[in-house]
Amino acid sequence: MDFDLTEEQRLLKEAVRAYADKEIAPQVNEYERRGPLTRPEALSFIKQLMPFGFYNGRLGEECGGSNLDAKTYGVINEELSNVWAGLCGMLWIAGNPPTGLAEADRREVCERIKAGESIGCGAITEPEAGSSSSYLSTRAVEDGDYWVVNGTKTWISCGPIADHMNLMVTVNPGSGREGIRSLHLRKESSPWEVVRNNNLLGLRAWPNGELRFEDVRVPRQNMRQMREESSGAASARVWNFQQPRTLLAVMAVGIAQAAIDDSIRYVKERHQFGKPIASFQLVQEMLYDMVVETDSARFLAYRAMDLQDKGEDSTWQAAMAKGFATEMAIRVTSRAIELHGALGLMEGYPIERYFRDARSLTIPDGTTEIQKLVVGRRLTGISAIS
Ligand SMILES: Cc1cc2nc3c(=O)[nH]c(=O)nc-3n(C[C@H](O)[C@H](O)[C@H](O)COP(=O)(O)OP(=O)(O)OC[C@H]3O[C@@H](n4cnc5c(N)ncnc54)[C@H](O)[C@@H]3O)c2cc1C
Repeated sequence: MDFDLTEEQRLLKEAVRAYADKEIAPQVNEYERRGPLTRPEALSFIKQLMPFGFYNGRLGEECGGSNLDAKTYGVINEELSNVWAGLCGMLWIAGNPPTGLAEADRREVCERIKAGESIGCGAITEPEAGSSSSYLSTRAVEDGDYWVVNGTKTWISCGPIADHMNLMVTVNPGSGREGIRSLHLRKESSPWEVVRNNNLLGLRAWPNGELRFEDVRVPRQNMRQMREESSGAASARVWNFQQPRTLLAVMAVGIAQAAIDDSIRYVKERHQFGKPIASFQLVQEMLYDMVVETDSARFLAYRAMDLQDKGEDSTWQAAMAKGFATEMAIRVTSRAIELHGALGLMEGYPIERYFRDARSLTIPDGTTEIQKLVVGRRLTGISAIS
């Protein structure tokens, strides 16, 4: 596996960082203080950052994308998370592909994506179905040329501002994953209701909400059967969580790296006992732990992306990367608080935001416990979560 960046990736990484430092960083505090981005704010950031490959970069030419490989997409997402993880999360979810729509609808949505004017999202979680994502109650019932959907989805990233959605439903409640199907909805023709905006501990600018579907009619052809994979299809595999989990790992690495960079700067400037605190051995030990953990997580994420770029299965490698990286980021950002003393706890100074953002990443796309069970299944051949 090659950990080196190509010349193109290196230049893109530098360009993203320079832009984010100059144009994005000065706005972070104000937006984070206000909470979830509004739709016009999200669209404005989408348009600003599309030229770097955010939002639609991994999509095909039809949607204005350039089919970015997983590693390149990961590199730019790590760089943006270093400056503002909440924005990074919003951008990759908003760029959800419009797969599953009928041809004419897909072309129209792609045109809007090309213009940076259509926001996507993906909805699996329900009030009573979180980790057990195969046991859904949101139901689709056939009615002529339509499916009629009823149910509630919650904690949906970008849900309150989305135009189109990949929605997981059951056609046979109680049958577990056998009955699960994926439906693609456009809000203008299959409108859902936003019940609530969720204001979370961290990643505060990333909109998140609860959505209700009451007799929502969706064209029959917008349904896809979930693909069963050859080797022991458990729900994680069927939903293909591989890329999202890897991206969450990459975001965690970006946040941890920001905490390290700020800490190194600070320990050289801050003096106690007549010396820079960087000269104390216990302080250097903390920096060592932070760097070793962050690099370890980065390598795990790169391994998963490398497999994805080779078209190989990365189920357990992505789970390992997500499980380790997100827990790692909590430890690293907590040490950054310690190194900054009271300043590390102060609102508006970025260190406490890194910690809050890191803490929020262990939950989406499968908690740490679920990642461990995915890896445990791989190690033992026995599924604890079938
Ligand atoms: C920032 C954020 C963004 C999100 N975005 C989306 C989104 O875009 N779309 C979407 O559909 N959902 C989204 N979610 C929801 C997320 O996927 C769920 O919150 C997650 O799967 C956990 O479900 P839950 O919150 O219901 O917790 P629960 O499943 O109720 O889990 C509670 C606790 O029980 C543990 N647990 C559960 N089952 C087991 C088990 N078998 N073994 C051991 N421990 C277990 C969990 O690890 C956890 O500690 C998002 C969540 C967050 C925080």
